[in-house]
Amino acid sequence: MTDAARAPAAPVSAARSDEARPPTPSRLPGALSAEVELAFGPHGALARSDPAYEPRQEQVDLAQAIAQAIDRQETLVAEAGTGVGKTFAYLVPVLLSGRRALVSTATKNLQDQLFLRDLPRLRERLGRPVSCALLKGRGSYLCRHRLQQAHETAVLLDRRGQQMLTRIIGWAQQTRDGDMSDIDGLEQRPDVAGLVTSNRDNCLGSECPSYTQCHVLAARREAMAADVVVVNHHLFFADVALKETGAAELLPSVDVAVFDEAHQMVETGVQFLGVQLSSSQVLDLGQDVLAAGLGQARGLAPWQELCAGLELAVKRWRLAGQPARADAAAVGRLPWEEVQSLPDWSAATAALQQALDAVGGALQQHEEQSADLKRLAERCVELRQRAAMLETAVAPSRVRWLDVGAQHVRAVDSPLDIRALMAEQQAIGGKAWVFTSATLGDDEALSWFCESAGLGHARRLRLGSPFDYARNARVYVPARFPLPHEAAHPRMVGRAAAHCAKALSGRCFVLTTSLRVLQPVAEAMRDELVKLGADLEILVQGSASKRTLLDRFLAGRAVLVGSHSFWEGVDVPGDKLQCVFIDKLPFPSPKDPLVEARVRHLREQGRDPFMSYFVPEAAVALKQGAGRLIRTVQDQGLLVLCDTRLLSARYGRRLLECLPPMTALESGEDALSWLRTLDQGRMLKASDAEGS
Ligand code: SF4
Repeated sequence: MTDAARAPAAPVSAARSDEARPPTPSRLPGALSAEVELAFGPHGALARSDPAYEPRQEQVDLAQAIAQAIDRQETLVAEAGTGVGKTFAYLVPVLLSGRRALVSTATKNLQDQLFLRDLPRLRERLGRPVSCALLKGRGSYLCRHRLQQAHETAVLLDRRGQQMLTRIIGWAQQTRDGDMSDIDGLEQRPDVAGLVTSNRDNCLGSECPSYTQCHVLAARREAMAADVVVVNHHLFFADVALKETGAAELLPSVDVAVFDEAHQMVETGVQFLGVQLSSSQVLDLGQDVLAAGLGQARGLAPWQELCAGLELAVKRWRLAGQPARADAAAVGRLPWEEVQSLPDWSAATAALQQALDAVGGALQQHEEQSADLKRLAERCVELRQRAAMLETAVAPSRVRWLDVGAQHVRAVDSPLDIRALMAEQQAIGGKAWVFTSATLGDDEALSWFCESAGLGHARRLRLGSPFDYARNARVYVPARFPLPHEAAHPRMVGRAAAHCAKALSGRCFVLTTSLRVLQPVAEAMRDELVKLGADLEILVQGSASKRTLLDRFLAGRAVLVGSHSFWEGVDVPGDKLQCVFIDKLPFPSPKDPLVEARVRHLREQGRDPFMSYFVPEAAVALKQGAGRLIRTVQDQGLLVLCDTRLLSARYGRRLLECLPPMTALESGEDALSWLRTLDQGRMLKASDAEGS
């Protein structure tokens, strides 16, 4: 289960006056389409308010398709290449339609961009006084009840933690919305954030003494009253899966649901649709029981003894889940068959259940003492049920695994995709659904996305990028290069990247498919740069925060070596980034239990898992990684793909064809010469700018 939301007992919709809301505007067929055409036209609202605005046919086509989906209450799946301007392409028809809409995007940062930048701009340009609300997960808001309790547990914090708590107490006096993102540095103190925010497990709902001042409730109430509500995929799935308030309550009341960055929906969805039991959930329960037991029912049960027993049982369970392998710390997901064969796993799970029973028994005996104890008793029962579930057989349409970290374990039982949930939601009818992203598959039918989201019935649209890739971008696949599994491969990637970085004075990203090769690639690069006499900084993922690394990269004369977190969501427009290296084709790991289960499922259907799953997955990830290179119409650059399977394997052409139409280069010398041309052009521009 997730921590995202627990329903306050009284539905927030009670706060909304449906009578006050004007009826959804009815209009003549095609009227919205005409308004959209006008807005994007050379004399339309966008052109009038922005002198730099240039109409893009792809953007107009996407906006028109969305207008049609809104008018006809259809489902549209639209892939729109980089530079199409998809955000405005969906916001303009949504705002012009006057319909109530839910817009979901991938991250909180993108949510903020939409809410703080794009929506206000468009509202003004289009002259539509539409009310908008931003809704985040409950962990983003201050919980006043837990803040009061935090005084008691503050002794467990170090000095800096206590200082942070004091700052939060001061801030809590003034905040209007309780959005914790206002507090600088809090993301570095998840322990403090956990003390002053709620989760589904510990929220008291309508029994909370701070219920009337609750920020979570206020944010949901505001969302229910707004015309356009911006959420994120995590919140959407967490709420909808648990049939909670928040996004789940909003969904039936909107006329349009738009999902941007839709390519992330399936992976996010399976996480949240799964049932989870983690060592930290049980430890948190123990801590909360101890604080509430000693504070509200002291002497009525041996709280310290019970909680110490629970802590010991969790520790044993966590250790039992560590595989006896040398690479235990780097294992990640452990397949369930392997988990079950671990020597102490069954006994440790049974001991954990007994410890939960003991704590649960004491809580139930004294739950009448306070709302906190009552909620803790319910929480204990939920965790006990999840522990019992781990002993049952895995259902055929699901997969179970253990996430193994250095300090925690988490058992997850999850569906293979989001088909069932989406089918259930779509069956309700009465609204338009729009799913969009720059990468939704490698075929016209967008099968990669539509199949796993159960959207086979949807209308599909594919729009290429308006950028002139053939003129501005080159792609080079070295023909003579070690194969990706060979030991020399990372070293050769580092050496080749060093030559390109020297030609450009930095300005390179080296994207790898695994964390393991980051250091070997960086070291080879460092050695080669020394030989070449080039003094460049090499920034490696993990050596500082992502933000810090990007800031240092933007400062110049640097190369960034990064893995998954730099493959998408990183936007470096202009000549700061002119070369992207990709070490090898980003196929999913066949050892990942979720991948294994999907492969098994495809085989049972008589399908070829490699061509129908591995290749499309690699295509989508490759498009995302390559998409870092060209971000604006003026950008120029080189993409280097260090995987000779693109030239030799039967699927190579299919993967190359999924990339934007860059001009292919035949030799390393051609590649370096192109980079030198770019570097000269950049220096010329810089000296012109200095002279003017
Ligand atoms: S209802 Fe109470 S416990 Fe729940 S989030 Fe609001 S303030 Fe916190």
